[in-house]
Amino acid sequence: MTSPSTPRKPLPRLLVSALLIGLLLWVALRHPGESPNDPQLLQRESLMMGTLVSITVFLDGQTPRAKAEAVVTGLEQLLRQFERRWSAWGDGELGQINRTLATGKPASIPNPLKFLFAEAARASLLSEGRFDVRVGALVRLWGFDDASHYLQKPPPPAAIAQLRKAVANAKTLNADRYQANGIQLDFGAIAKGYAADLAMALLKKESLHNAIVNLGGNLRVSGRRGDRDWNIGIRHPRPDQGVRILASLKTHSDEAVLTSGDYERYFEFEGHRYHHILDPGTGEPAQGLQSVTVVCPEGAWADAASTALFVAGPQHWRDTAARMGIDQVMVVDAQGRVTVTRALAPRLQFAEGIQPVVVP
Ligand code: ADP
Ligand code: MG
Repeated sequence: MTSPSTPRKPLPRLLVSALLIGLLLWVALRHPGESPNDPQLLQRESLMMGTLVSITVFLDGQTPRAKAEAVVTGLEQLLRQFERRWSAWGDGELGQINRTLATGKPASIPNPLKFLFAEAARASLLSEGRFDVRVGALVRLWGFDDASHYLQKPPPPAAIAQLRKAVANAKTLNADRYQANGIQLDFGAIAKGYAADLAMALLKKESLHNAIVNLGGNLRVSGRRGDRDWNIGIRHPRPDQGVRILASLKTHSDEAVLTSGDYERYFEFEGHRYHHILDPGTGEPAQGLQSVTVVCPEGAWADAASTALFVAGPQHWRDTAARMGIDQVMVVDAQGRVTVTRALAPRLQFAEGIQPVVVP
């Protein structure tokens, strides 16, 4: 594992608190119009998977509140298990695989990880390598493995080039046995969407059919909020420009709404923003877009796709979406222009002053 040569400075405590408050506010804003005091709503928030996780259930009278509370508590425990299992750098299954890869030996993929590995491999293939979980060592070199410490400036170009080449030369991912030199696996761009899928499946198994599972903007929704649709706010990537919610989406279908953006994890150096979505082709943060929102039935796929489309950039997001079978997309480019596909456009309500371009 190559470690960054630039020393990391811990963020002052005040700044960390401010960031947390910002995060809480941001999530609150994601559900405009939903009052947390509604007696029929059960809402629980906790910090997990490096982000704010919020679970909202509409109690339709069939399930007593106490029973629903117990289900949600069990769900939070399950999400903590996933967090440990899927963390690239922890002591769970994926961390163990990365330690094995670092020794040059082959790693067997345990059953609970096989689906994620298979989906990640499929997403890499269909996105022509734009989505690639083998970027783990690069993510670490850029310092985005640890949200509490960011680099002060980009890592040295030679170190980036070395790890980029290791990714390019590594064996294609598979879900059985994997061996590769000089790379580490990071499922940060697909695991939260998959966790949202599994969480929703568990809620449904317990007859809680009307719910939103939101893992830091990676969202899976099901059913309705009583006699009305759920209302999902999609964050503006540059809320400092006055508009906080770019668009809202009403939904009563069972689907996933995922956004990847350059605003969640980043640092600035000499007037340039360096963020956490890396282009495996250059080894550097992907250029050209500020955010990509994808709507599709499965959270894992929507998560992988939103990252892949972000990397594909303004020129290629449409053909990447087509190859991945995604037709509901909204992107904001580096100039702040909003483009939305014809399949998603009629479902969105845009903030005042936002004039999207609609494309096929
Ligand atoms: P978020 O997790 O913030 O919602 P993403 O789903 O786009 O955003 O995932 C970004 C994370 O995925 C990064 O923090 C990093 O761990 C990992 N990653 C970065 N670039 C890529 C890439 N090209 N392919 C796959 N994973 C990536
Ligand atoms: Mg993603």
